[in-house]
Amino acid sequence: MGRVIAVANQKGGVGKTTTAINLSACLAEKGQKVLAIDMDPQGNMTSGLGIDKDEVEKNIYDLMIGQVGVEEVLQKEAIENLDIIPTSIDLSAAEIELIGVDDKEFIIRNAIAPIKDNYDYIIIDCPPSLSMLTINAMTTADSVLVPIQCEYYALEGLSQLIHTVELVKERLNPILKIEGVVFTMYDARTNLSLQVVENVKENLQQNIYKTIIPRNIRLAEAPSYGMPINLYDPKSTGASAYQRLADEVMNRE
Ligand code: ADP
Ligand code: MG
Repeated sequence: MGRVIAVANQKGGVGKTTTAINLSACLAEKGQKVLAIDMDPQGNMTSGLGIDKDEVEKNIYDLMIGQVGVEEVLQKEAIENLDIIPTSIDLSAAEIELIGVDDKEFIIRNAIAPIKDNYDYIIIDCPPSLSMLTINAMTTADSVLVPIQCEYYALEGLSQLIHTVELVKERLNPILKIEGVVFTMYDARTNLSLQVVENVKENLQQNIYKTIIPRNIRLAEAPSYGMPINLYDPKSTGASAYQRLADEVMNRE
């Protein structure tokens, strides 16, 4: 039942976390039951959804190294209809601690199996690398959503990401596909943003979402209040863009 979407791009600063937070929150606002999983040790999704990282007792690191069950790490109804599995900086050590462990590519998939059907959507925020953490997200996911920043080097590294998705599909998760590419931080005042969009459309054989996320200062401010954009400033251009993206994701079943 639950559709699992990993938000991934090994480049940092392209809008993964912003997209994961606000897509999750907008889907939840539309009445979908959502689980947000923070797989980035930086924890920006955790704090951006209003959870104080210092107050969290058990997190995804404990889940990965097998110390606890999934119910113990679940923060229920962080926002209405939205549960979250928070992260911690400890997660950055998981990769090393899991050396030699059997099935380490499937830890998260196995861990969330008992609760997966409680949700309509499970959104996973990935770290900016193609590490074991990202592989775990990709074995858990049905699809990968790729944010692309509207800047000159937008396509750099994308072929590696696509290759990684293909390898994971071939060897670990046969149903995995690329859900689509979403442009972020579009600046209507510059020709560059427009050129990047045109160029990517010409050169990329992937689904591209019609919704383009504009550069909007409110999107950058919201995390410091621990709020997704639809709660922080529902009338902003950023909020309406993520609402439209949520609609598109829902219509793409
Ligand atoms: P990633 O998770 O890929 O590293 P982030 O989502 O953290 O990227 O975004 C990087 C920075 O850009 C953050 O400071 C974020 O607040 C800001 N940002 C992301 N998307 C937008 C946007 N559409 N408009 C303005 N600022 C944005
Ligand atoms: Mg991030």
